[in-house]
Formats: sequence, C-alpha cells, structure tokens
Amino acid sequence: MRAFTLLIPFSFFIVIYPAWSFTLNNTVAATFPANDVPVNVAAHTCNNLGISNQDLLEMVADAVNNYWNKAPNSRLRLRKGSLTSVSAAFQTEPGCSSTSGGSCTPNPNLVVSSGILISCNTDTGSPANFTSGVMAVTIPNNIQGRNINGSLILLNDKADNSFKNKSHDEQVAILAHEIGHAVGLGHSPVEDSLMYYASIPTRRSLGWDDLDGLAYLYPAGQPFTGCGSITLNHDDHASNGPGIFMVTMLLGLGLILAMKSCLKTPKSLR
Ligand SMILES: [Zn+2]
Repeated sequence: MRAFTLLIPFSFFIVIYPAWSFTLNNTVAATFPANDVPVNVAAHTCNNLGISNQDLLEMVADAVNNYWNKAPNSRLRLRKGSLTSVSAAFQTEPGCSSTSGGSCTPNPNLVVSSGILISCNTDTGSPANFTSGVMAVTIPNNIQGRNINGSLILLNDKADNSFKNKSHDEQVAILAHEIGHAVGLGHSPVEDSLMYYASIPTRRSLGWDDLDGLAYLYPAGQPFTGCGSITLNHDDHASNGPGIFMVTMLLGLGLILAMKSCLKTPKSLR
C-alpha cells in the first residue's frame, strides 16, 4: 500500500511530462555529421531588415553561444561563419519549389552546399515563404541519407516584416530558434523551450526539452578510458585513504555489535 501511494505522484509526473516531447524537422532524424558547423550569412544587402549583414553575423555568434553551444550533453558546436557570396536567387526565390501535402520540395536553386546559411529574402516567387507574417523559414535543403550537408534559413525581408520591430535579444532568440530547425529539430509542445512554436520575448536560454532533442540528435561521446580498467596512481590512492579508513571502521563497528547481539542469551521467545 505504501509503495502504491508512492507510485501515484510519479505516474502523474510521467503523464504530464513525457520523456520525448521534442519533434524533428525531417523524417529520417538527419544530422550534421561533423561536430563543428559554421553558420554563414549571405553577403547581399538586406532591404528591410533594419540591420547590416555584419550585425546579423554578430547576432549569429550570440545565437549559437548563448543557446545551443551551452548544451553540455551534445557533441555539436556551432560557430559564427563569415559573410558569403551567393546567387541573387537566395534573396528573392521561394525556399520550396512545391509544398504539396504540407511537405517542402527544396528549391534546387537555393541548395546550401555545406553548413548553415542565413539569407534575407523578399519572397517574390510561389509558393510564398512568408505567409501570415512569418518571420523566417528554415529548410535543411541538402540531405543525403541521414546526413545534413547544408541548411538554409530565409529571413523575411519584406517591407512589413515584424522581425525589425523586435528587441535585439529577441532577434537573437529568433535566430537561435531557426538554427535549431537548421540542425534538425522541429517544434516543441513545451512552452518552456526555445523550440516552442511561438516567439517568446523573454526566452534567453534552452529549456529541458531543447536539451533532450539536441542530445538525441547529437549525443556527446564518452571519453575513451580503455576496456573498463581504472588506473589508480599514488596520489589518487592517498586521496582515497580517508574513505577506505571510514569504510573499514564502520565494518568493524558493525561486526562488534553483531557479536554482542549473538552472545546475549534470550530469556524468552517473543
Ligand atoms: Zn519554428
């Protein structure tokens, strides 16, 4: 009965917070095979974003270092890349050549050869990138098997974009959210997550579900220490001395008490 009572709160906890809440941005759980992935910014001038390419690149540094690179359980380390010259198509064409059935067929003119590329985009083609005031779209558009070779982030650079009206910190958080999609994560249903579907002005760090998702896609490797062996040098042994001494003393005390108990003759059975 006592065990049953203890189980109730644990069951309730599991129902409310499922172990895997995060979703993936692609059906094959594709990931960047390299640990080190650059985030580059297209060199062309943005029309309506209100910030320069160089400022955008500096925001990328904050987006990776204040969010994803703080995950201790992930092998992935993102880094600020460089201003990169790309074709004018990246500034105007849609990210998908079709979106039938809700799935995107990447536009072959915007394939990112390697790493992550951020480009502002004025969205003059069809299907439109930025319907209903969407600030950005992200498409891992160069996937081979389970490897992401390149991902594209398009920022809404139309005159009515809402990105330009956000605070600097929220813009960094929005970039970090899109970079999360670029490395393979989908949206999280957990509101306390960077990957929650809506922009949260006060989001300044990863949530536990972001960490779970990143650890699933990019698990940190264990340091190799040999085949289960433990090497104990002289200093280690000396530092462990008090611990071994205490264990020995406790075992000795237990033995004395047990012997005293055995030597007593019971006067009657209870
Ligand atoms: Zn999103």
